[in-house]
Amino acid sequence: MNYPPEPFRIKMVEPIRLLAAEERRARLIEAGYNVFALRAEDIFIDLLTDSGTGAMSDRQWAALMRGDESYAGARSFHRLKEAVQDIFGFPYFVPTHQGRAAENILSAVLVKPGQFVPSNMHFDTTDANIRARGGRPTNLIIDEAFDPRHPHPFKGNMDLEKLRAFIEKVGPQNIPFGMITITNNAGGGQPVSMANLRAVSELYHAYGIPFFIDAARYAENCYFIKQREPGYQDKSILEIARETFSLADGMLMSAKKDAIVNIGGLLCMRDEELYRRVCNELILREGFPTYGGLAGRDLEAMAVGLYEALEEDYLSYRLQQVAYLAERIRDQGLQIIEPPGGHAVYVDAGALFPHIPHNEYPGQTLTVELYLEGGIRAVEIGSVMFAHPDPETGQMVYPRLELVRLAIPRRVYTQSHLDYVAEVLGRIAERAPRLRGYRITDAPPLLRHFTARFEPL
Ligand SMILES: *Cc1c(COP(=O)(O)O)cnc(C)c1O
Repeated sequence: MNYPPEPFRIKMVEPIRLLAAEERRARLIEAGYNVFALRAEDIFIDLLTDSGTGAMSDRQWAALMRGDESYAGARSFHRLKEAVQDIFGFPYFVPTHQGRAAENILSAVLVKPGQFVPSNMHFDTTDANIRARGGRPTNLIIDEAFDPRHPHPFKGNMDLEKLRAFIEKVGPQNIPFGMITITNNAGGGQPVSMANLRAVSELYHAYGIPFFIDAARYAENCYFIKQREPGYQDKSILEIARETFSLADGMLMSAKKDAIVNIGGLLCMRDEELYRRVCNELILREGFPTYGGLAGRDLEAMAVGLYEALEEDYLSYRLQQVAYLAERIRDQGLQIIEPPGGHAVYVDAGALFPHIPHNEYPGQTLTVELYLEGGIRAVEIGSVMFAHPDPETGQMVYPRLELVRLAIPRRVYTQSHLDYVAEVLGRIAERAPRLRGYRITDAPPLLRHFTARFEPL
């Protein structure tokens, strides 16, 4: 597979450097072998996340200068409003400082203790915001999503039978709203088909349940639909986006993903009464409804970024770049989650280190080796992140897969950077049988992956 030529040229650069091997080891020991505790300037290639790490365009930087910082009714708000209504078609919306703030506000307004919010798969902050209001987030994705080798083209799809049975079981009156995440971040950035979105919308609506889309990667999802779903080859991405959101009663999104800005979020809806309640909550937590926790200039950059993410040249390059990295990693003999998603490649660390058991954290070993071998930062998505004692038996429950995610920031790294990442993985694979696991020496009870400290075994 050829690397897609970037549909941009570089106008400003940010130097990065690879520390010497001994220095990398010293920094990592200081960090308790947790890459979250490293200083970013000590990292050569940072694939920790694609959130807020994208490169803004010259048009976005120019738009910053037009920022109207008026407290209320700023011109920048109205520019964003035009973009939001044009692309998503919702009559009401508020900006928020990032995606989780939109989740917090929607949950605060709609979720009552004991109620359920189904989705294909909730992202962790969405899950936590629903729980924080006493709600019960529920994941009802198709079974193929759990098979890392299954080539299903829309592995983010909701299981419609599971959803129907679930609504019948708990009762529609106990579901304040239903969701779906596009693309499915927690499940590898896998897309949802338009047919599935339509069926989910019809099912929720048949029971009178409002339907909200978690749309952080809406543009990548639209491009997958164009490539993979019959009947969409000749539609523009904007048309596919409009069709997607026409099916929903509202959406929330982290603008740090497909709006290609460093900070920001959106909460959109059709219902005026809901909008009034959202505004009250927003004023309490974020700010006045025409800025919502952001500066006027941030709103301007977002308005431009929302359109740039829909450009076909950009999306074609973006998804091919991820597919290219996936192929180079396969060439090195490593197993990944197939097919690769829209924003990241997930390496199967359990398959690479079959001799390291769950409780010695194979994903942690790979994360450490990526930094030691090549100054690369990735994130463990395995037992460090998810293992927990069963509340009844006290026995440890381990996730099925031990993964390491290589997330690709938008418009940031070039082919040679990705070739380098694949080569480093190849060198690690050669030594894999001799590598050992880790022990946690110190960890908080919740979300421990951010601050845990480790020791090599
Ligand atoms: C990133 C993300 C969020 C949360 O957004 P933040 O901007 O990080 O608060 C919610 N849902 C999905 C699917 C995401 O990828």
